[in-house]
Amino acid sequence: MFADSAKIFIKSGKGGDGHVSFRRELYVPNGGPDGGDGGRGGDIIFEVDEGLNTLGDFRHKRKYVAQSGEEGGKRRCHGADADDLILKVPEGTVIRDEETGKVIADMSGENRREVVLKGGRGGKGNMNYVTPTMQAPKYAQPGQPSRELWVRLELKVIADVGLVGFPNVGKSTLLSRVTNARPKIANYHFTTLSPNLGVVDMEGAGFVIADIPGLIEGASEGVGLGHDFLRHIERTKVLIHMVDAAGTEGRDPVEDIRKINAELEAYNPELLSRPQVIAANKIDAVYAEDEDPVQRIREAFEPEGIPVFAISAVSGQGVKELLYKVQELLKNFDEKPVIFEKEYVPEIDEGANLPFTVEKAGEGVYTVEGPRVDRMLGYTNLESEKGFAFFQRFLKESGILAELEKAGIQEGDTVKIYELEFDYYK
Ligand code: GDP
Ligand code: MG
Repeated sequence: MFADSAKIFIKSGKGGDGHVSFRRELYVPNGGPDGGDGGRGGDIIFEVDEGLNTLGDFRHKRKYVAQSGEEGGKRRCHGADADDLILKVPEGTVIRDEETGKVIADMSGENRREVVLKGGRGGKGNMNYVTPTMQAPKYAQPGQPSRELWVRLELKVIADVGLVGFPNVGKSTLLSRVTNARPKIANYHFTTLSPNLGVVDMEGAGFVIADIPGLIEGASEGVGLGHDFLRHIERTKVLIHMVDAAGTEGRDPVEDIRKINAELEAYNPELLSRPQVIAANKIDAVYAEDEDPVQRIREAFEPEGIPVFAISAVSGQGVKELLYKVQELLKNFDEKPVIFEKEYVPEIDEGANLPFTVEKAGEGVYTVEGPRVDRMLGYTNLESEKGFAFFQRFLKESGILAELEKAGIQEGDTVKIYELEFDYYK
């Protein structure tokens, strides 16, 4: 088991119910309604805590339930709001919906605090329902229900460089050669199966390498410990792809590189667009009479823009050149940390079955209405680029785009969703 992943149940607090009561006064048989409003239920909030570096706490306690709001009282008494429940997590924790695997929040970079499940609003007491024709309402609003969800927390390793390759190609050997024996990163807790991190000290800027063990064929389908390892690679900026150029175990290095790249791509196609260098290792074991295996690797991959370095992790030959290249690639790397997009908003995705309508309102104008979109708009900030991207995906996944197309929408037509108006482009 990994100490950097945990599955927990979270539940926000229910809103307190509104109260039904009537004022009692001497000589007044039926005073006015005076039932107060219920209090707000507690939110489930995640917060980054700099002092934490594992998710270990979440293995011992798995249920996190916020308190409900207090019921309203008589004499216009407002029920107390419940306290929010704040869950402290280490930076780099990704929160996913357990069922779909979709990202709810990535607690990295600027994102230090995120309300993941909102508590229910309190219900209104009957004092709010007086109308000219209804002087003694016996109705009060119930509090909004709580929300609950199983989520998976994952702590991602944040290394600059991922070292990938089949077993026994020499990854650990290289790591122990080029990094400090006792890695400076005491921040992460690793079991023996977790990636090994090491710091490369270099003039200019050092960097962190993660030796990612166990990457084998089928990893992207979860074979072996595949997914656990692959998710560690996701945040690295540069990949060193190591092969045994000497083919000491009878493997074909060119084929191996293609296989592993296929695994990376199957897991997340974006991984292949990261800069990659090939370390053709064990050249000390290549015999003179062999055809030059490094040349073959060069011919196969350099045309694709992947530089190849012939090295020996054991003797150190060629290692410096490799590291300089990696350093250079890192320098050119856009410094922004890789932060996962939000893919799941509990409030919205819970509403997946709510109805919506699509109608042609005029020449080149289509309207979309209904609780499904209403709810979405309430939760999305369309001013932000991310919010808008999320909204676009929502249109697609909810089937609204398909309906618009069925209704005959053309490029450049206008879509109106309540106050929101935009032009339709594929
Ligand atoms: P990993 O599974 O990729 O981490 O591979 P290891 O670092 O554990 O190495 C596997 C085997 O290959 C070990 O026996 C190493 O001594 C050997 N090895 C690693 N690098 C070299 C090298 O440059 N030359 C030779 N001849 N053997 C190497
Ligand atoms: Mg190893």
